[in-house]
Parts: sequence; C-alpha cells; structure tokens
Amino acid sequence: MTARPLVHGTETAYRKHGCRCDECRAGRAAYQRDYRARLAAGTVTPAVHRGQRRLAPAPAPIEGNDLAAVTALLESRARALALPAAGRGALALEARTRRAEVLALQSAITREVTA
Ligand SMILES: [Zn+2]
Repeated sequence: MTARPLVHGTETAYRKHGCRCDECRAGRAAYQRDYRARLAAGTVTPAVHRGQRRLAPAPAPIEGNDLAAVTALLESRARALALPAAGRGALALEARTRRAEVLALQSAITREVTA
C-alpha cells in the first residue's frame, strides 16, 4: 500500500491525521467559520453524536381550534413516536410512554366527541 502524501490545510489532515501545522490550523479555522455561518443561516443541521439527544421537532401550529386538527396532530405525533418507541433503552422507553399518553389523549378526545 502506498501512502498518499498528506495535503495540509484540509479537514482530513487536521481531523484524521491530527496535523496541527499553521496551514492545517488556518484551514480548520476557516472551515469552522464557514460551518458556523452555515449553521446560523440554517443551511446545515448539526450532527447528532452517539448518546446525544436530538430534540423532537416542535409540532406544527394548529390551524384554527377545531378538534379534527387536534386529533390529526395527535395522530402525527403518535406516528412520529412509533419508530423510536420500537427501539431499546431509556429513550425508547420514554418514547413508548409518550406515545401511550398521546394515544390516550386521542381516544379521550374521540370519546368526548362521539358521546
Ligand atoms: Zn498540516
């Protein structure tokens, strides 16, 4: 195997090979400046690392006040929780609990409406 020469000033040289020469540090700083600008502009989503929690997206605002919109929202929340609830561990347990709450709310509303 022939090792390719290290290209200084690149993310690969800085992160993978751990080079801290002036060129690599300047390249890294420029990359970080650019990344922060893209984060601020909302054109990039921050990476989620193992064990780190991503916040659930805020629910869409309910248009008007009708029960159909509320039950539709609850339905979509239950659907969104189905996948994480199927996993293992503490987060899955929490997702199952929340999904059960959502479904209980949904059926309580349905009972109220049809009563
Ligand atoms: Zn370097």
